[in-house]
Amino acid sequence: MKRTTLLLALICAVMSTSAQSEQFDIKAYGEFIANGYDFFVDNNEPYPISIKINFDLTNLKSKDKNGTVYVIPAHSKRQLTNSLAIINKVKAYKYSYKTFFNKGNHHKTLYDENHIYDLPFKKGEEYLLFQGYNGKQTHQNENSLDFSMPMGTSITAARGGIVTTVIVNNNKTCFKPECKQFNNKITIYHDDGTFADYAHLKFKGSTLKKGTVVKQGELIGYSGNVGYSDGPHLHFVVYRQEIQDRHTIKTKFKIDSGDTVQFLKEKENYKKGY
Ligand SMILES: [Zn+2]
Repeated sequence: MKRTTLLLALICAVMSTSAQSEQFDIKAYGEFIANGYDFFVDNNEPYPISIKINFDLTNLKSKDKNGTVYVIPAHSKRQLTNSLAIINKVKAYKYSYKTFFNKGNHHKTLYDENHIYDLPFKKGEEYLLFQGYNGKQTHQNENSLDFSMPMGTSITAARGGIVTTVIVNNNKTCFKPECKQFNNKITIYHDDGTFADYAHLKFKGSTLKKGTVVKQGELIGYSGNVGYSDGPHLHFVVYRQEIQDRHTIKTKFKIDSGDTVQFLKEKENYKKGY
């Protein structure tokens, strides 16, 4: 059977001219088949991608409804998503479409609630958690943590996983939400489907590469004050990513000698003695 490949879209995340931002290496494409089209996605990223393809159709019938979210596994090619069938072959037919996508498995709502995280800095050090979960300054309705620490403090992985994003080329700082686009950060994908962001790292504050596997406690970069920030600190957040919404998660940490495990509280100092 002769197949014609139609390259539908080479998809990249929103790219800004001035800021280095997150990009996804995925490709969505349609192929003409006997009575319509099949739509495939290649995902070259080391983590799953969720994608929605909404069609506007003339004389074509879609297998799935608009709004269906497909999950494309990490490092996978030719994952079949939707198919279109021609309704009346003697009449003209056409389609247009919009794609929406994000990292993570949209359908995976369960995660390991009992995982115990390490404090994200070196053994023997102690820092103030100046803003905690749902903090009034910038963490409203968000389970994020801000550790106050000097520029260049060594940051270690609170939990092991696969490095999915390393952005360390930004060097602009301002205390306005629009400066979020300049946040330097490392993102790590965990084996339960959650992600962790380590943000505001210093300019060129990491040499890690996407796809690298890091262990809990391993050095990943150096803290800074870049992006939406009003002083040197580390912003740490764990989340589950749906195609549109992000659900941030409270996590338990080992503190002091490592024998005590608890959720961290704002305005407390935390020492890593392990
Ligand atoms: Zn923060």
